[in-house]
Amino acid sequence: MKFSRCSIITMLTILLLTGCEQAATPVVPSAIASLSPSASPDPTVAPKPVSDTGVLPTNNTSASTPIKEPVGFEIGSPKEEPVVSVEKKQTKKSALKPIYSVGKGQVAITIDDGPTKYTEELLKVLKEQNIHVTFFFIGQNAAAFPQSVTEAVYEGHEVGYHSDTHPHMSQMTYDAQENEFNSGLNKLIKFDKHPVTLFRPPYGAYNNDTKLVTEEHHMQMVLWNEDPKDWATTDPSKGVKSVLAQVQSGSIIVMHDHPSTIAALPDIIKGIRKKGYTLVTVPH
Ligand SMILES: [Zn+2]
Repeated sequence: MKFSRCSIITMLTILLLTGCEQAATPVVPSAIASLSPSASPDPTVAPKPVSDTGVLPTNNTSASTPIKEPVGFEIGSPKEEPVVSVEKKQTKKSALKPIYSVGKGQVAITIDDGPTKYTEELLKVLKEQNIHVTFFFIGQNAAAFPQSVTEAVYEGHEVGYHSDTHPHMSQMTYDAQENEFNSGLNKLIKFDKHPVTLFRPPYGAYNNDTKLVTEEHHMQMVLWNEDPKDWATTDPSKGVKSVLAQVQSGSIIVMHDHPSTIAALPDIIKGIRKKGYTLVTVPH
């Protein structure tokens, strides 16, 4: 069989291009891959969920792929929701009382949805301000940014748990909630010598089954009583104003791990201290 010169060049070009693509994929270190624009937390580029749990596609079983930004953030005032009806319905009523506030004269800053590519910078800011916060880390993100979890623990911050993949747990059966809970917790606990004792359900969405699962793990459920909607603005000064306008004795403030919040934090911390409140981590 004869090939024209032109067709040989075409074939060689195809081979070359295909070869390059195959060789490039596995050598991208996860740390660099995680900094790519595809990992951007910009809610406008949030990919389509692939299941009713809002779980976003991951590359097979790769533990180093952070979940893309959750389909939403913590918002509003959380309240208990009805359980999902299933055959094996749990009839036990949980006695767990979620924590919405801290003590008199105290304020707790809580930061959800990390670790992310921004957490290193966030930890630097917190150190400069000489403050400890309570993180609620997502299991899948902890696996993707293990160094940030280790550093948060080392720096003395309180590390709480925020599910594996950030689903609406109140829309899941008891068994599905338990699976979700276990899979992410296993990723997180290996970084902390101390047991993880605080859990915040994504979106503050919980029901009796969520409380039962939390209780079985000997953990407290932590919600919030101040939502400054930090994710809704890219203007740090608006974030500062929003927090300081609402803050009061006993506030648990829900915030998120992203750039405008990090930029706002120094003024938020100074403002809270100026009002005479003591900044604390959520007790357990
Ligand atoms: Zn969250």
